[in-house]
Amino acid sequence: MPEIRQLPTSVINKIAAGEVVERPASVVKELLENSVDAGATRVDVLLEQGGMQLIRVADNGCGMRAEQLPLAIASHATSKIQDADDLFSVRTLGFRGEALASIAEISHFVLRSRTGESDAGAELEVMGGVSQPVSPCGCPVGTAIEVRNLFFNTPVRRKFIRTTQTETGHAVEAFLRIALAHPQVHFTFRHNDRLLYELPPVDNWRERILACFRDEFDQGLIWIDNSDSDVRLSGFVGDPSLNRANNRLQYVFLNGRCIRDKSLQHALGEAYRGLLMVGRFPVAFLRLEMPPSVVDVNVHPTKLEVRFQDSGRLYSQLLSTLRQKFLSTDLTARVNSPSPAAASVVAEPIEEAQRRDLAAWALGVAAGRDVGPTSPGSSPPLSPAAAMNADPAAFPRDLRLDFGRSSSQPFRPFPDSWSATQRIAGSSPATGLAAADTPQSPLATAPAAVVVHEPSVTYAPERVSSSVPSGRGMQVQNRYLVTESEEGMVIIDQHALHERILYEQLRTKVLDGALETQRLLVPEPVHLTPAESAVVLDARDVLSELGIEISPFGGDTVLVMSYPAMLASLNPGELLRQIVNQLLAGGKRPERRDMLDELLHMVACKAAIKAGDKLSLEEVTALLEQRHLCQDAHHCPHGRPTALVFTRDELDRRFKRT
Ligand code: ADP
Ligand code: MG
Repeated sequence: MPEIRQLPTSVINKIAAGEVVERPASVVKELLENSVDAGATRVDVLLEQGGMQLIRVADNGCGMRAEQLPLAIASHATSKIQDADDLFSVRTLGFRGEALASIAEISHFVLRSRTGESDAGAELEVMGGVSQPVSPCGCPVGTAIEVRNLFFNTPVRRKFIRTTQTETGHAVEAFLRIALAHPQVHFTFRHNDRLLYELPPVDNWRERILACFRDEFDQGLIWIDNSDSDVRLSGFVGDPSLNRANNRLQYVFLNGRCIRDKSLQHALGEAYRGLLMVGRFPVAFLRLEMPPSVVDVNVHPTKLEVRFQDSGRLYSQLLSTLRQKFLSTDLTARVNSPSPAAASVVAEPIEEAQRRDLAAWALGVAAGRDVGPTSPGSSPPLSPAAAMNADPAAFPRDLRLDFGRSSSQPFRPFPDSWSATQRIAGSSPATGLAAADTPQSPLATAPAAVVVHEPSVTYAPERVSSSVPSGRGMQVQNRYLVTESEEGMVIIDQHALHERILYEQLRTKVLDGALETQRLLVPEPVHLTPAESAVVLDARDVLSELGIEISPFGGDTVLVMSYPAMLASLNPGELLRQIVNQLLAGGKRPERRDMLDELLHMVACKAAIKAGDKLSLEEVTALLEQRHLCQDAHHCPHGRPTALVFTRDELDRRFKRT
């Protein structure tokens, strides 16, 4: 039995330091937080060599008395809380009493401080956790801390330190987080001899944001403000045009503390869904103010993460505030704007993004992953958009290939159910191959007659499957896939095939009763003509069966309350309009089955790759491998053919071999 022993303080501090101090930026953060907690109105930061040589933070805060200095650097010594109950009413940034002890353990540390009441200051020097006696010194009121040679006695940690530039970047980020949260404080930041930031105190948060980001967001910050009982959410979100390639410019400040919260990030993404291209992230500066009692800040050593008592409600509050804001601004108008400029800049990418969203969702379903849209909750799973945002490069190739690989069934180009009458004799010039040579080719006109071979020729699907390499093929003209079958050559319309595959899979899901509905946090008003609203309200019952709940909203406006989750990336208003058009065209109440089918067609069509999409070889292979998933591979849901077959006999004849 090995000895159990109490660890020496220095080891305890080193362990704590490992958690608290990851890099120079961590020191910058901790020292700045202490300055803010000390009520400073001015704080100056100086770094040398990315902070590895020197980090100096000087403030004009309340300062410390000489006899307090040794306590300040003792572990678990703090002036900010007294007992465990205080943990639930923390209003300061610090409270763990670990930072200075940790930093002093792994650096050459000098602390100088003076309170307003004392004539002189006091100085305490600590070398790798070993303190010198406190000595008097001359200094202004406030506190100045110098940290040199960070990690000098923890070589392992030192190895993880990157270039000066990288470390400076992290330190600047730590600085900005504090500076953004406290606009009333004057901050400066110097690196070596360069003044990087001079941020005078301001009353208006927008000015501090612009000062931190050099007027980058001068245009396009949208103010939001919403109070839900004791939780106030306010701040700025970016116009969609300010979007970024990552979510780093999404700042959330909880009671003056910068935090990261996956659920809130997700809500942000949801609010911008349809407004941004996939893989792009909105810019946001959000402030949350709430009683300290409804949030636990003591769950993370650097307090970057917190635990909300009711995170689901917060999620809804953020999402509905943003949606309401977007409804009342002209953002959506821009998206739908028919003006050529707006259409080319905004509408195009959005269509693309929606299509990819749908495709990813559909493919997720296909691959057996449940990536359906989420309802607000404490920790919502990633939506397809979010999942892709996490790694935009992963789409579309990986998903498609995954989709393809999941199949183990053999390739069968034609189903057994395919009746002989559907096979048209290739020898007939009117309907067969000969027509393909003319400008009015069957490809362009999409005739019912599509397969070109002798009616007498029979084929055996099993034989086909065993002898044809299922994935081999090529793409031509960015729209057709050419491959080989036992019989001859097969030409496949890539969009039609993909659409068919998606349609089959979606239909299976729906018929299995897995049609989820999604309640809109903010019901979407759709303005209709009197005739339209009458016909759509008439069909209310049928629509509700489909997961589309509507209700009259005065005049001829109809509110969409909920809609099928599978259509999450479609605009609910647009969806209703399409339904209205169909109702008016059909002139009769839609049967549930017909309606479902129509919706499925819509989704599959939107989600599928298009004619003109260039595919990689792997994508071609994946698509071809999926042909077996189609119970009925020869027609897309619109009835257009998905494939043409040129039999070997026919080819021989064309080449005058017979
Ligand atoms: P915490 O901030 O969690 O209390 P720290 O180790 O960061 O722990 O600091 C320990 C104590 O030292 C603080 O509680 C505070 O009383 C004092 N202190 C640290 N920095 C300053 C400062 N810049 N001005 C005044 N007091 C400070
Ligand atoms: Mg602290």
